[in-house]
Amino acid sequence: MIDNDEIAGQVRMCAACPKMCRHVCPTFFAWRSDSPTPHGRALIIHYNNTGTQRLDSRGIEVLYQCLECSHCLTWCLPEIDIASIVEATRRQIVDAGSQPEGLIEMARSIETHHNPFEEAHSERTSWVKEKGSGAKSVIYFAGCTASYREQSIAESTASILSETLGYDVIVSDEEWCCGSPLLRTGHYELALETARHNVDLLNSVDAESIIVSCPGCLRVLTQDYPEHGLKLNKPVFHISQVLQERIETLPSGAVDGTATYHDPCHLGRHCGIYDPPRDVVERLMGGGLVEMEHNRDDAMCCGNGAGLRTLFPDKAREIGTERVEQAIRTDADFLITACPFCKNLLDAQSLERIEVIDLPELVKRAGQQEGQE
Ligand code: SF4
Ligand code: SF4
Repeated sequence: MIDNDEIAGQVRMCAACPKMCRHVCPTFFAWRSDSPTPHGRALIIHYNNTGTQRLDSRGIEVLYQCLECSHCLTWCLPEIDIASIVEATRRQIVDAGSQPEGLIEMARSIETHHNPFEEAHSERTSWVKEKGSGAKSVIYFAGCTASYREQSIAESTASILSETLGYDVIVSDEEWCCGSPLLRTGHYELALETARHNVDLLNSVDAESIIVSCPGCLRVLTQDYPEHGLKLNKPVFHISQVLQERIETLPSGAVDGTATYHDPCHLGRHCGIYDPPRDVVERLMGGGLVEMEHNRDDAMCCGNGAGLRTLFPDKAREIGTERVEQAIRTDADFLITACPFCKNLLDAQSLERIEVIDLPELVKRAGQQEGQE
């Protein structure tokens, strides 16, 4: 956590900068205004720190328009981490009880139902067909979006782990939201409560590792939990890493056509995982992988991060539509991602002009197509 002195020094640096980072900021793209930019946010925080202008409702709005995608950090030579500074300031906003109304409901839902969608906790594992137990077990931590909104990703992941890779897959009824939506929007106390529950649960299960299909969960379990002194007693992997490790078990060239790949911010810029999903896509696609102009650490955010879609759905859709357009410009047949959250928004914005699927769904399809040959 960045303390105030550090924040004050960092945001001062933006004053003497040509501010070209705004051109990679998706919220500058969506609003076309100088406030929802990295520099605009730094200025608001600087004014608040120095007492020049205290945070008012407009300032709070601009800080909650940030996707925390960290794209600006790739441009910034002095490495001013606007996403972390915004997140630390959001924590102060929440502590003062001044957060946007829409997020209060999200936090209440996680507190009551352990997911942000106001869905019954008893339905969390409704997608599970068979639960495993025994030796050589892995825990599949499905996360909220795959559990409630993208169940085909959860089903595909569990079936790949058990049928293709031969693990006993453990999915717990007691899994709660990992805390990502809470941490990213400044609700730290509640996030730590859910984190403590998950760590106790995951540490009590006899398994060799924890597998996630959501990059938001991956970042929280591997970075945020340890940062807050919460230690898991087994390693955590993203499904793309597991698939890359066992790539020889996947059918080569089984899916006709070409694919382009969208890097989820949490998987790419935040966890540094770029090659594993690409290697899997290359293996499965008959026509291989075609890159978008903006890829890897230069990939545009899908628009679904850090509460933006909850608070400003039209702008989130606008950003998602632009990312879909970038994919369509490659002439690929498929837009693949490796994040249930990204898939959900990109799929909604694709309007069937390009098929959007998640990595485990592609693996499942490759297996089915191979079976038909
Ligand atoms: S975030 Fe970095 S690149 Fe952007 S205005 Fe500030 S100092 Fe300049
Ligand atoms: S983190 Fe993303 S949305 Fe936020 S200021 Fe940087 S580029 Fe813009």
